[in-house]
Amino acid sequence: MLELEVPSMSGAGLEGPDLLSSLQRSRGQLLGRMSRELAQCSGRYDVFRCLGRVALPELGGWCDLDVLQDGVLQRVAAFRAPHGQVHGPPGGPPSPLAWRVARSGSPELHQGLSEQVALLLSPEEENLPRIQEAGLLDCMAVPLWLAGQLIGVISFASREPELRLDGAALALAEDLAGCVALALEADRLRQELEHQAADFKTLLDVIPVGIGIARDRECQHIQQNRWFARLHGLPLDSNISLSAPDGERQPIRYRDAQGRTLPSEELPMQRAVTTGQEVLDVELDLEVQGARRGTLVISAVPLFDASHRPRGAIGTIQDVTARKRAMEAQRFLAESSAVLSSSLDPEQTSRTLVRLCVPALATLAMFCGRRPDGALGLVSMSHADPSLQPLADEMARTLVISEEHPVHELIATGLPRLIPVVKEAFSWTLRNGPSERFGIRSVMLIPLATSQGVAGVLALGSTDRTYTEDDFTFAKEYAAHATYAIDNARLYREARDAVALRDEFLGIAGHELRTPLTALKLGLQRLVRESAALGDEDAERLSKWAATCQRQGERLGRLVGDLLDVSRITSGRLPMVLEEMDLAALVEEVAARMRPELEKVGCSLVLKLRSPLAGRWDRSRLDQVLSNLLANAMKYGPGRPIEVSASSTPEGVCVRVQDEGIGISPRDQARIFGRFERAVSERHYGGLGLGLWISQQIVSQLGGHIRVESEQGRGSSFTIELPRWVED
Ligand code: ADP
Repeated sequence: MLELEVPSMSGAGLEGPDLLSSLQRSRGQLLGRMSRELAQCSGRYDVFRCLGRVALPELGGWCDLDVLQDGVLQRVAAFRAPHGQVHGPPGGPPSPLAWRVARSGSPELHQGLSEQVALLLSPEEENLPRIQEAGLLDCMAVPLWLAGQLIGVISFASREPELRLDGAALALAEDLAGCVALALEADRLRQELEHQAADFKTLLDVIPVGIGIARDRECQHIQQNRWFARLHGLPLDSNISLSAPDGERQPIRYRDAQGRTLPSEELPMQRAVTTGQEVLDVELDLEVQGARRGTLVISAVPLFDASHRPRGAIGTIQDVTARKRAMEAQRFLAESSAVLSSSLDPEQTSRTLVRLCVPALATLAMFCGRRPDGALGLVSMSHADPSLQPLADEMARTLVISEEHPVHELIATGLPRLIPVVKEAFSWTLRNGPSERFGIRSVMLIPLATSQGVAGVLALGSTDRTYTEDDFTFAKEYAAHATYAIDNARLYREARDAVALRDEFLGIAGHELRTPLTALKLGLQRLVRESAALGDEDAERLSKWAATCQRQGERLGRLVGDLLDVSRITSGRLPMVLEEMDLAALVEEVAARMRPELEKVGCSLVLKLRSPLAGRWDRSRLDQVLSNLLANAMKYGPGRPIEVSASSTPEGVCVRVQDEGIGISPRDQARIFGRFERAVSERHYGGLGLGLWISQQIVSQLGGHIRVESEQGRGSSFTIELPRWVED
């Protein structure tokens, strides 16, 4: 609140009764003076003071200014004439008069009745005697309006009989109130502007985005915020415009993806001004004083003047170096994983592992692990300089890691190590080893921990970089991917070795079983013959038993034969003995041989043969295929008829074995030609799941193919198509 004693009447010749006429005469002058003085004001207290200074002598010795704040009228300034002529509290709450005007919004003038005036002006009872004592004659109050809103009230009072307040004084007070309201509004706007400017400046200071503002068409002066200065590593007050006048220009360069340095007119802010269009997301590499600082994404929008002509631009800059590096790292990891997984040979994988590291991660990359002879040594090594690669290869072949070498420790602990700056004479390296020859300055050692323990150590060295924690994290991630690939390759090799071992075993076992089987079969044949010769009842029973044993022996022989074929086929040794033959005759022969068995299970057999069907094939292998198909037809369709047909086709010959058995579901049809694949339960049907697989291998070696058509519960039909002549 402002409380002022205003100097006594201004202007020596303006006292007494002349005042009112002076007021009337100089009303225009007074308002002019008021406007001029208000224009000089800065701040609302200046405005209040100006009101007191200009209005008080002219409109009595008493003036209160109350303003509405959040709907409540509050006293903000009070002026009283000097020398104790006018009493009453300058401070304190607004007067009843002010409240009345604030509520009604209409000016009020009260003349002559000093008692009523005192009541209207004294806000509290205790003040009343003092105000009465002042002997005020007239009082008036006018509202302060701004854009249709009431913002306060100005009250005046006079005790001078010569200076009575009347209608003219009220009109003048209203005009003054208008000027004061405007001045207060101007002050409010100025303050708001100042706050906004301060907020904007704070925003520019704290926002983690580089912002540059150019206020000229050539963008010769670009003002930057803190982040911008920080990104460029330049003082905040430097002009970072590339088109800055000589002497102000900074050693900055922007390069595009192709490495081309952009001239100033191609930069986003300059382009935004020239084209009048926004320029978005331009990715550029920043170089300051010849050193690369990172990758920036720059956007710019033009600023326009009142006639919509570009007058400057605002540019934003974001540092995407980390994001870009992360993306590149991800890409590198994805690509390297694909490359690493493409080979299932551990040696090849370890060579790929080190090759991929240079030059992206290292100048020199080595993989130390177990060599085929079991010794710990360099398995592979790669150098960024291709001319040094032969030397690296030579070392990989010859160097052995001594017992004291730290690689042993890493393999034992599985803990990776980062050596940002190699200080000692490379104690971690191999004697006369790579670092001494290659000048390595910074090193990362990462053990590759697989499910079977540490497979080896990836050593990465750089001649020009100092590895950071970020590099270390990335290298560990890369090593984890590589470990996965190496482990995969190892598992694959182990699985392949195990399969080879099994096949080898099957081959040996097949041969071993065959010898006693042959002897057994011969013995049984003889037993059958000799028991038949005996002729009595016991002999007949004996002969029956012997025949059963013979059949089982033959079945065992076929199973052993199948196992032998598995090992032959997987090792690529299923020889074909080709000869001129008649396929129809072979079908008849197989059918005749199997007839007893067919009869036993109640299957009638119909042959539909177009003979002869001459061709060059392997007789015993085709016999095997036909026997297998017929045996399956019996097994899966006992008691049901079987039909075998054979005919010529334009391409060769076609044999079909058709039954009316259990049939095969469409899903199973797709897999029954696979090794060990079966589509029936073991409890109900015997078999190894090898017959169709072996048949398919034989048919395809003869240049043909085999297929099945079937419906569950409605029988199956296996068709073989073969060319007639097969090259040896
Ligand atoms: P298996 O010794 O099990 O018969 P195969 O390789 O000869 O082995 O046949 C593979 C599977 O195909 C069989 O287990 C059976 O489920 C199905 N299969 C083969 N032939 C027939 C057929 N004629 N009718 C129904 N299912 C058959």
